[in-house]
Amino acid sequence: AKPIVAVVGRPNVGKSTLFNRLVGERIAIVEDTPGVTRDRIIADAEWLNHHFTLIDTGGIEPHAKDDILLQMRIQAEIAIDMADLIILMVDGREGITGTDLEVANMIRKHDKDVLLAVNKVDSKTLENNIFEFYNLGLGEPLAISAEQGLGLGDFLDEVIDHI
Ligand code: GDP
Ligand code: MG
Repeated sequence: AKPIVAVVGRPNVGKSTLFNRLVGERIAIVEDTPGVTRDRIIADAEWLNHHFTLIDTGGIEPHAKDDILLQMRIQAEIAIDMADLIILMVDGREGITGTDLEVANMIRKHDKDVLLAVNKVDSKTLENNIFEFYNLGLGEPLAISAEQGLGLGDFLDEVIDHI
């Protein structure tokens, strides 16, 4: 079976944007409401002829806005269980939040490989923002911009090194 790579993280950090870009089709629907994604969340992806199954999370529309964080926790827990490699995504423009720490702690309880993707690093000047994420204790922060397509080659090299 192909290795499973799951993208987890709090709402609105850009998980679905990365998913769409790596899968190459707009099959997850990004909405303006933070964390709300519908449609497919599992797809085949490939880099340098390494094939893997990519899982987006946050894809179940909650009944009420208050449920978003709870839904994220439940979906992240399921994805972490399934995954061979976890990508924790954080927002390089907002810095570490309490929810980031919470998700990092969820991941730490599992004995799984993890990569830390710092998204929204859309320019060189924002690259200095990544260092604070060492404080999550999950290793080297990898700068990407899912929207602009920056840093994705180096990031995917790391992904295939870990699967
Ligand atoms: P999710 O809730 O984690 O799935 O986040 P989404 O993929 O739905 O993205 C949330 C918002 O962040 C959207 O408005 C995206 O356009 C925006 N976004 C995603 N990636 C980037 C990025 O690399 N740079 C910037 N500036 N915005 C981004
Ligand atoms: Mg999403």
